[in-house]
Amino acid sequence: MKITAVHVENLLLDYDEPFVIASSALTSGPCNLVRVETDEGLVGLGEACAGFEFTGDTLWTVQDVINEYLGPAIVGKDPSRIEEIVRIWDRELWAVGNQAAKGGVEMALWDLLGKATGRPLFDLIGGRTRDALTEVVAFGWDEPEALATKTRAMRAEGVTIFKIKVGDVPEKDEQRVAAVREAAGRDARITVDANQGWWDAKTAVRAIKLLDPYGIEFVEQPVRMDDLDGARWVRERVDVPIALDESVRGPREALACVKAGACDMFVVKLMKTGGILNALKVNAIGEAAGVTIMMGNMGESSLGLAAHLHVNMALANAVHADADVPGRPGGLKRDIAAGLTTELRDGVSVVKVSDDPGIGVTLDQEAVAAQRVARPWQ
Ligand SMILES: [Mg+2]
Repeated sequence: MKITAVHVENLLLDYDEPFVIASSALTSGPCNLVRVETDEGLVGLGEACAGFEFTGDTLWTVQDVINEYLGPAIVGKDPSRIEEIVRIWDRELWAVGNQAAKGGVEMALWDLLGKATGRPLFDLIGGRTRDALTEVVAFGWDEPEALATKTRAMRAEGVTIFKIKVGDVPEKDEQRVAAVREAAGRDARITVDANQGWWDAKTAVRAIKLLDPYGIEFVEQPVRMDDLDGARWVRERVDVPIALDESVRGPREALACVKAGACDMFVVKLMKTGGILNALKVNAIGEAAGVTIMMGNMGESSLGLAAHLHVNMALANAVHADADVPGRPGGLKRDIAAGLTTELRDGVSVVKVSDDPGIGVTLDQEAVAAQRVARPWQ
């Protein structure tokens, strides 16, 4: 089988409400839909979701990099030779950065490999260690009363894990976490994510000590992404495990975090690592060092989310999952793909991926067409 074309379409996916975190406030999310076509008629699907404050990528840089560089370099190649293709990008094009573009195309190659072999993605990377993941709902910055209302509604739906965006003035963070804990009950699980928002390491320690009495499982990214000394300083002074997200872009950054003793967990996203192969390498570094991982996401549609959740299901070291799904508060107004499902197990909402070949999603072509965008200056 040979790759005959790599296509990319640009979409903006509307959120059902603005999603505010320490480093951004968005009403819609960028989405580059990637299709890798082959001479045997199979088409692989991938999704790039540019996270500007994470990697510097934008909707338009992803399109340009795929059209000008990553796509033409692999036309005529065997799509199942994924390691070789990634090496072509790294060592023949010397393509620096542009992780979202690489991640979106690489995702489509795994989808193709699954479709060609008739196996779901998780089977291609070791087989699944879990058959479902506990659903998570993530809340951006909002008024405490509004968070409490949303929490009660989601508890009634069986949601048991709440991820709260913090990194604001610590006292405001405390009010939000207190409101969610009060509404969620003692048996709910709560995690927090500061997204580099606290001013410095001392403020981070003060904030985490304010939040700790409400029972938080871990805190993400308490300091700036390059401040690994600061992360270690915080980690040594609080009991709550420290997860690093923005700091962990690929295997080299993961190794630096381990050497610095900076964290207890890596948050791994395919848009930071530039694909699944590098995500597996980050996981291996973590597992060898006693650092667990959690597959996160950038707010993708069910296509990109499903790819992340396949990886989360396969890796035994991925003990936490950012298993949020479109359709919840703060989620997408209109998903472009179907394939993820939720169900209640003993009253707890869990998320499942499809057993169909590849990533196992089907596109909603009307939803794609409705959210397609053109460059404003062309
Ligand atoms: Mg995060």
